[in-house]
Amino acid sequence: MSKPSLPEIQPSAAAKPSREQAEEAVRTLLAWAGDDPARAGLTNTPRRVTDAFSELFSGYACDPAAELARTFEDVSGYSDMILLRDVRLESHCEHHLAPFSGLAHVAYLPDRRVVGLSRMARIVDIFARRLQVQESLTAQIAETIQQALQPQGAAVMILARHKCMAFHDTNQPDAIMETTHFTGVFNEDTHWRQRFIDAVRAPARL
Ligand SMILES: [Zn+2]
Repeated sequence: MSKPSLPEIQPSAAAKPSREQAEEAVRTLLAWAGDDPARAGLTNTPRRVTDAFSELFSGYACDPAAELARTFEDVSGYSDMILLRDVRLESHCEHHLAPFSGLAHVAYLPDRRVVGLSRMARIVDIFARRLQVQESLTAQIAETIQQALQPQGAAVMILARHKCMAFHDTNQPDAIMETTHFTGVFNEDTHWRQRFIDAVRAPARL
């Protein structure tokens, strides 16, 4: 298994344009598409698209490591894998700005310290609300947990459908992309890796 260099967790932001500049850029794209940005139906579109961008890409303003800062030490001797599966994921590919969506399964094997379950889902959401490729998204979640929580290992699997697969002549809207990233024991020990994979593949009956 090749070991990629650590993903960039917090990209440095380019100088932020003004809201007016952002709305003007949307008008330019509308004209590029062949429409008239001044027609009645499109007058408020630049404002709505700019608002949507603020929401969809709010992850740039968040620090994922800070979400994991509050940990708990007392887990009464618990020492097995902690897995949060079926975390709903909505993101956008950095190549086409096209949406991709699916499920993330996030696990770690604690080393004394554990973190609130909602924090793990929050990490997924922060990274998803940035422009992504699925491979980087998967690695960023696992490496952030590894660095911030320092467990014995972290494991992340993402399954997603990419809208850009329906573009052009690809026309494979149902294809599912599966990516995994393992650190620590999940990377080194096939037993733990298999535990994780078996757990996420098991049907959930609750
Ligand atoms: Zn794409």
